[in-house]
Amino acid sequence: MVMVRGNASAVVVSGPSGSGKTTLVKHLMMRHPNSYFSVSTTTRPLRGEEVDGMDYRFVSREKFLEIREGGGMLEWAEVHGEFYGTPRSEVLPALEAGRHVFLDIDVQGGLQVKEALAERAWLLYVLPPDRETLERRLRGRGTEDEEKVALRLRNAMDELAEIPRYDAVVVNDQLGLAVNEADRLLRSLQVNATAWLEDGGRSLLRERFGLELP
Ligand code: 5GP
Repeated sequence: MVMVRGNASAVVVSGPSGSGKTTLVKHLMMRHPNSYFSVSTTTRPLRGEEVDGMDYRFVSREKFLEIREGGGMLEWAEVHGEFYGTPRSEVLPALEAGRHVFLDIDVQGGLQVKEALAERAWLLYVLPPDRETLERRLRGRGTEDEEKVALRLRNAMDELAEIPRYDAVVVNDQLGLAVNEADRLLRSLQVNATAWLEDGGRSLLRERFGLELP
């Protein structure tokens, strides 16, 4: 059982490579300044501009397996032949402190987070506008060879089939609109009785109904 303050959620954002989910997460986080980004651990080599400890923690396979076997991963998956995982320590302390925690992870991982955190996890899927755009964006990166692009496209199409298991979907046609929509959906999660009580509902009940709730 995870104890959390307020309405903090583990916000899992998944979507195929080329969906623009990483940019979407960055913008969404700007609207939630107290939120925390979960830095994943991976065995894949560092790419381009990436910074160890910021984009990922880059580790050897041995180190990854050691953490995993020690029960240190909240979830993990093998993606494109490399291991990726979310250390428990990246998510639980911030969540317990009442902060939203954003996870940019794949569907296999997202479903494990849901399993572990139940209603404390919110799973958002980011779709590119169509298959052509997806393919173009995958190529546009310019860091992958043809074989890898084809593999990523196949994996992406397989992932789309898992959409019904997610809590919400946004189509990333125009970034600004997609961020607005994702933000609206995330905030509407907080429109529940707990949020209402904390936002003056408790005193309304006391004043108008003489009811004192803890
Ligand atoms: P990339 O190597 O392009 O950064 O990421 C490849 C895929 O791995 C992406 O779909 C990304 O969301 C996913 N991924 C990154 N970190 C994690 C993680 O900690 N766990 C899981 N399950 N997937 C991850």
